[in-house]
Amino acid sequence: RNKSISFIGLGRMGYEMAYNLFSKTYAEANDSHFVVCDAVQETSQKFCTNFLTQFPRARIGIATTPEEAVLASKTIVTMLPSSPHVQTVYAKESGIIPAIQKLPEAAARETFCIDSTTLDVTVAREVAKDVVQTGAAIVDAPVSGGVTGAKAATLSFLVGGTEEAFQLSHPVLSHMGKRIIHCGPSGSGLGAKICNNLILGVQQIVVAEGMLLGQRLGLDPAILAGVINSSTGGCWASSVNNPVPGALVDQSAPCERDYEGGFATALMLKDMGLATGIAGSQGSPLPLGEAAERLYERVIEAEPELARKDFSSVYRYLEKLATV
Ligand code: NAD
Repeated sequence: RNKSISFIGLGRMGYEMAYNLFSKTYAEANDSHFVVCDAVQETSQKFCTNFLTQFPRARIGIATTPEEAVLASKTIVTMLPSSPHVQTVYAKESGIIPAIQKLPEAAARETFCIDSTTLDVTVAREVAKDVVQTGAAIVDAPVSGGVTGAKAATLSFLVGGTEEAFQLSHPVLSHMGKRIIHCGPSGSGLGAKICNNLILGVQQIVVAEGMLLGQRLGLDPAILAGVINSSTGGCWASSVNNPVPGALVDQSAPCERDYEGGFATALMLKDMGLATGIAGSQGSPLPLGEAAERLYERVIEAEPELARKDFSSVYRYLEKLATV
């Protein structure tokens, strides 16, 4: 159990992260043991087959429940869609928390959980409190950098937890990312992530609005993008993720591939909801955040296929709304 790591949630992000974590840990210590767990069994099987093709002598197994993952490993990483999944995986009858409670006291105290899911701060803090009560440690460590960063092991991890827990998380996270930032106590990593995505979600909409209005005024999108990006309106949404095909010289933005391969509109809507959901209880007004959340909702209602496309496809929605 000491030399074993379990990874729960092998989705678009988790699959790549687990692969990097396991292959780099294996390179350091080839007697390590790895366990994967996903709600979809075939995903776990596919992961093991691929890993064993590259590392035929590696010791890797499948856990069918989070409980089995806890019994197998003292380090457990979770990368799940959102709050309800984290509550299920940590808290239900066969979840992580009851499984730690069943361990001998010394083994419980050695257990360490890293949750990289982007979820509700309040839920994450409640789960963390319950984990800590078992004697184990936990950090929230949501990521920024997307699937590309997950594949290249260049993610940024925003970590919330005690200094001791942060130090425990560092060697694990460094196999999956480049920047590992201790943001403060439990929930702070998520707080930072949610604030960043709130700003990004609003900026992407207003860049789409400005780029559309400029074209209606007769401006060439490449000239307009050049002006914005060398002026005070410039931001990541205009200079890297510009929503208008042909606006950027390097043509690598998702809009050049029909908005495929970026950050899904559905995930941005989820993150905007996390910000507006928590803001009320903090007495923090979000007039633009709330408007942006409603707009992403409308985008998905009007064109359900945009839910899985990059959130800069809000431009496509606005373009269709535009009247002659
Ligand atoms: P995903 O939906 O592709 O993957 C989630 C995985 O969790 C799936 O394989 C699913 O089968 C598994 N799962 C769900 N419930 C489970 C359960 N009860 N037990 C075991 N496995 C379970 O999601 P993703 O794109 O990998 O994103 C994961 C998290 O990372 C989300 O919180 C997302 O907001 C965040 N995030 C995603 C990106 C991105 O670009 N995709 C970028 C930054 C952060």
